[in-house]
Amino acid sequence: MNRRSFLATAAAAAGAAQAAPQLAVDGGKPVREKPLRADYFGTQFYDDKERQELLDVWETRRPFRWYGTGNKPPMKVATFEKEFAARMQTRYALAVTSGTTALQAAMAALEIGPGDEVILPAWTWHSCYAAIVLAGGLPVFAEIDESLNIDPDDIEHRITPQTKAIMAVHLQGAPADLDRIIPIARKHRIKLLEDCAQSVGGDYKGKPLGSYGDIAIYSLQLNKTITAGEGGAVATSDPVLFERAARFHDVGGLRSLHEQIVGTPKLNPFVGTNFRMSEFTGGVLLAQLRKLDTIVGSVRASARRVYDGIRDLPGIHLRKVPDPQGEIGSAVFLGFQTKELRDRFMAAMKAEGVPVSPPGGSINLPVAPYVERKATVHPAWPTFNTERGKAIQYGANCCPRTTDILNRFAGPALDPKFTRRDADDIVAAIRKVYPKVVG
Ligand SMILES: *Cc1c(COP(=O)(O)O)cnc(C)c1O
Repeated sequence: MNRRSFLATAAAAAGAAQAAPQLAVDGGKPVREKPLRADYFGTQFYDDKERQELLDVWETRRPFRWYGTGNKPPMKVATFEKEFAARMQTRYALAVTSGTTALQAAMAALEIGPGDEVILPAWTWHSCYAAIVLAGGLPVFAEIDESLNIDPDDIEHRITPQTKAIMAVHLQGAPADLDRIIPIARKHRIKLLEDCAQSVGGDYKGKPLGSYGDIAIYSLQLNKTITAGEGGAVATSDPVLFERAARFHDVGGLRSLHEQIVGTPKLNPFVGTNFRMSEFTGGVLLAQLRKLDTIVGSVRASARRVYDGIRDLPGIHLRKVPDPQGEIGSAVFLGFQTKELRDRFMAAMKAEGVPVSPPGGSINLPVAPYVERKATVHPAWPTFNTERGKAIQYGANCCPRTTDILNRFAGPALDPKFTRRDADDIVAAIRKVYPKVVG
């Protein structure tokens, strides 16, 4: 390039300066001086409602859900279950201590045990894998696709006569492709479990997530949409699945309230555990549940503003969401051709004061060392002592596409308390950085 054309180019660039200012990572002015930071959702909405629920339990001195001193039951957990089932459009809901114990109760409800196989996405939380193994069943991983959820095209060839259930995990606020997963489950007569832990309050085609499968689980831990620090729930519209989960969560018995709810019990007592929720937790969760639509509505509005602000960027490659209306919008993910480009995007966005992260909150499980080694609490654990269990291989060859996708996506986390200005800053930073990184 000669000097004249260089000057011409520089002048043109200066003319376009407003459209393409210098990146903060190259010494330019950042979009935000104070970096944007998403916080935990539920606790930001704590107010006198949660306080009053806790005081009710404290004053009645009845922290246990089934009985206590005096005759004024606060019934926080029971009320939470009733309102939760109504909100999730299922016939029954059972409160438990965590999303993990909800998964274990769901495994019991579905009678998953030694010899049974369960298909789950390679990228999900530890508990999904753990619940199957702790039930004695065998986890079979399927790849995720660019929705960051289980790839419907990678399920069917993994089904065997031992497959008893598919776990559709609605990861990072967005629904899995239920229209394609449900027919596969039906065709092969296997159960569908929806794990809604990361999408509590999300929908799919106008109905709440968790209302589609045979059974659903939710986490109410700090990182999820609503929270009491810990907590979980199981929901189903099948009375037998509900009864089995309820018995399993309460040392095999069925208390009169749950007996009334299911009508005539159909099962005999069997060995169970204790995943009962405390009334203190139930009270806080009841207050939080009544704010769920506000929380989801706010974070959704921010996410829509971000999507609408970046959709027209040339070459933009967004996370594939099967029902954008149903997505919670806890994060907006962009895809890149290579990990190197993704990492450059992350560094440049950080410098702009709008940090973005790779898909988080889950583990690439097949390459987690303890999974690859098939480590259990006992060498005779049934999971890996069947013929199939001995033959199955996890590790890097199991789901390479999942690893590749996780390396190529990143995006900003959103927060229900973000202002329009915050969302606009995200848009401004992406519009500033993206063309320079990919161009
Ligand atoms: C958080 C989470 C769980 C477990 O919930 P806890 O309440 O932390 O036990 C299960 N599945 C998924 C997908 C999760 O993100």
